[in-house]
Amino acid sequence: MNEQSIFIVRCGEVALKGMNKPYFERMLVERIKKNVKQFAGVDVRRHEGLIYVRADKSIDREQLLKQIGKVFGVASISPAVEAPSNLDAIGEEAVKYMLDLIETKGIKTFKVEAKRADKNFPVKSPEIGRIIGAKVLIGCKVLKVDVHNPDVHLFVDVRHDKSYIYQQKIAGFGGLPLGTNGKGMVLLSGGIDSPVAAWMMAKRGMLIEAVHFHSYPYTSQRAQEKVEDLARIVASYCGNFKMHVINLLPIQEQIVQNCPEEETTILVRRFMMRIAEKIAEKNGGMMLITGENLGQVASQTAEALVVTDACVKMPVMRPLIAMDKVDIMDKAEEIGTFETSIQPYEDCCTVFLPKHPSTKPKLDRIIESESKLDVDQLVEAAVASEEIVQIRQN
Ligand code: ATP
Ligand code: MG
Repeated sequence: MNEQSIFIVRCGEVALKGMNKPYFERMLVERIKKNVKQFAGVDVRRHEGLIYVRADKSIDREQLLKQIGKVFGVASISPAVEAPSNLDAIGEEAVKYMLDLIETKGIKTFKVEAKRADKNFPVKSPEIGRIIGAKVLIGCKVLKVDVHNPDVHLFVDVRHDKSYIYQQKIAGFGGLPLGTNGKGMVLLSGGIDSPVAAWMMAKRGMLIEAVHFHSYPYTSQRAQEKVEDLARIVASYCGNFKMHVINLLPIQEQIVQNCPEEETTILVRRFMMRIAEKIAEKNGGMMLITGENLGQVASQTAEALVVTDACVKMPVMRPLIAMDKVDIMDKAEEIGTFETSIQPYEDCCTVFLPKHPSTKPKLDRIIESESKLDVDQLVEAAVASEEIVQIRQN
């Protein structure tokens, strides 16, 4: 058997990037290296359009696979074994590989899927398949060929210097490598939606930074810790990031004292956006990201979203806008944030919640209400009071 664990990593959309392809591939390699740096002695390099990860056999393969699988831009991963590119050597490795699968998985049937990436290799793909299939049948007496519904598809990938044998293509998330698409400032709550929104933008290559608002002492220290837990799960995909933490209570109190009750929510949301925009400007963020979703709650009607947007110049990305809640919940399950999100802690939005929130706010009325507040000063003071929490991926 090989002395190393080898993983073949396929780059999805990265492969379509034309002239920029080497840049995207380099970024992808860098991101894989970052995500596996907790393991000593892992080698990551690209070669002929694929990325090869080699690791010492002592490293936990499942853990390594999980870490590679979290890298955006990875289309699929195949744990593989390698052999020198001649049919005897490939056959020998294939037999060992299949004996192992017979022992561990009890497989009975197989089909060889051979591919000759090196067109100078003297034998054509169908013939390679037949020769390796015959060698496996001789070496593994219990196995039979089944071309329609085999227990194992035995992939044989013949390349110029080395050949590779594998049976699985484990799907990655796809997307683009982090750092290839600017930086976004996510408004991160403790809910289900915003961590998913952050994840979705990061999947398209966007670096993430976060703002979180609380209303201490109405909201608890534990509620903030929950958001930090969520942020760390997001960071396991998006890398380390800064979370700007802001107490919104002084602003909420001003709103409650000076403005109509039914407008509280929308007014608070406009302050959140303004503060997030200021923080984004200071930190190289070019867009805001929220977990808002059309019609989900009173503050997310079409009218409310228009009024919310009108107070900032930065584009507001809402990747969940057209998703159903069940689909957002499924996504949260898939990326591992759901269990944390549903822990019951108070959010600053639930403090001073109006009994009958206005669902069709009018911008001129909202601006009129805001004229009773010193908006600029409140925003400046909030930004100046920020605490920064460093969110680390491991
Ligand atoms: P979520 O599940 O993300 O909390 P939600 O359906 O509860 O979403 P809202 O509470 O109306 O919706 O919030 C809409 C969006 O506003 C959130 O997705 C998030 O981006 C932002 N937001 C809400 N509360 C906070 C907060 N305390 N800190 C930062 N951002 C927030
Ligand atoms: Mg919320």
